[in-house]
Amino acid sequence: MSTQERYPIDGSRDALWMATAVEPPHTEALADQELHCDVAIVGGGFTGLNAAMSLAKDGKSVCVLEAKGLGFGASGRSGGQVNMGLNMGPEALIQRFGDEAGRRLIDTVTQVPDTVFTSIHENNLNCDPVQTGWVQAAINEHYLDKQISVQKEYERFGCSMEVLDKEQANVRTGSETFVGGIFNSRAGSLHPLSYTRELARVAIENGAKIFTNSPVESLQQTKEGWLVNSGQGRIHCGKVLVCTNGYTDGLVKGLSKTVVPVRSILIASEPLSDNLRKTILPDQVTLVDKRSLILYFRYDRDGRLCIGDHGPMRDAFALSDFENLKKRVKKVFPQLSNTRWDFHWGGRVAMTKETIPFIEQLAPGLWAGMGYNGRGVGMGTALGKNLAKLASGLPESESPIPVTKAKRFVMHAFHKPGAYINIKWFELNDFLRGR
Ligand SMILES: Cc1cc2nc3c(=O)[nH]c(=O)nc-3n(C[C@H](O)[C@H](O)[C@H](O)COP(=O)(O)OP(=O)(O)OC[C@H]3O[C@@H](n4cnc5c(N)ncnc54)[C@H](O)[C@@H]3O)c2cc1C
Repeated sequence: MSTQERYPIDGSRDALWMATAVEPPHTEALADQELHCDVAIVGGGFTGLNAAMSLAKDGKSVCVLEAKGLGFGASGRSGGQVNMGLNMGPEALIQRFGDEAGRRLIDTVTQVPDTVFTSIHENNLNCDPVQTGWVQAAINEHYLDKQISVQKEYERFGCSMEVLDKEQANVRTGSETFVGGIFNSRAGSLHPLSYTRELARVAIENGAKIFTNSPVESLQQTKEGWLVNSGQGRIHCGKVLVCTNGYTDGLVKGLSKTVVPVRSILIASEPLSDNLRKTILPDQVTLVDKRSLILYFRYDRDGRLCIGDHGPMRDAFALSDFENLKKRVKKVFPQLSNTRWDFHWGGRVAMTKETIPFIEQLAPGLWAGMGYNGRGVGMGTALGKNLAKLASGLPESESPIPVTKAKRFVMHAFHKPGAYINIKWFELNDFLRGR
């Protein structure tokens, strides 16, 4: 049996977003040509295209090279939730980066939803933005206590969020599963593939050149900066930004060891009836349930409920890979027992050793930015803009997101069995804690 017969679902092609996105701007592959620009960007997702748009609007000449199509990576497959926060709370960030850099990072993190939605409005990006808030709901007191303590830390840094008791969590979510939670009114959702394509459109309108089906094969340091090679094409530039996240290949030696690509899978329902929608996330909030292996929920513009979970460690999927997710969903919302699921897809989420994203200067004028641990819609936007500032000359000591040396996974070659064991451990944890 061929791989395609065993695993007929293609995580990019079969995404709901492919069926409902705005048209992409016209792009072509880099042909047999020699170009010159200020900054070359590898990767056409949220990170690379936010960097490209910012640089182009700032008058810099920019070339983006994407190996496949715009949004082929996680950006075109994402759940599209624009959430706030990292896996480390504010106090841990201060401990990790020190007071000054830590506070700059906390400011960036707390402003992330507004950074995204303001940019969408200022640039007229046609991508279904909805800023109705985010509920992070706890399945038991253990998680609720943790949430409340992180929420108190954020409050000390000027970012307030509402603590929900059981009844309030039930009203906001429509589910009786949760013992409480946190509500962040600034967060929301967008159409991730449209967002990606619209960033590219605005970048091009401001002079950026974007090449698709143009994998970068090598980077060479030159007297003037860098030479970027893709097929027969060559780009001479001053700076390079590598924005390849979970799809990082061997382009830069050792970089792929900074991220472990785990898989997240999503399903989207048929458009739900108005009656059903009144009982599930009635105010169109996005929802993440707080446990080791989270589920995440949101509506799209047509009233389809999109729900995500962890997936198997491969890029193509079988329908059976989604059975456990559907079972879990029914426990949270029994109303969905007879719902038809129209779309199934998934992609790579880049996990890092420190569980937070990073910017690293790999060589003079060569930066990488990635490792969102499943929070790349907001953080990818902020980090892409940050990379643009660095490429424009911002001293690293003033960078809103600290420039660090990312920790490498020592046993990276064994990341698949390692991730499998971790997932099983988390499942056991959730089972024991959920009882
Ligand atoms: C199923 C799923 C659901 C998610 N849901 C959410 C969510 O709800 N909220 C949230 O905040 N985050 C979510 N995430 C995470 C978020 O989508 C990602 O963090 C974000 O899209 C990363 O953007 P990026 O531009 O850094 O990388 P990507 O979008 O992955 O883009 C990297 C690109 O680099 C290209 N590339 C790689 N190597 C080369 C090369 N040598 N030359 C040229 N191009 C190259 C790839 O083809 C790829 O297109 C989700 C991720 C997945 C997979």
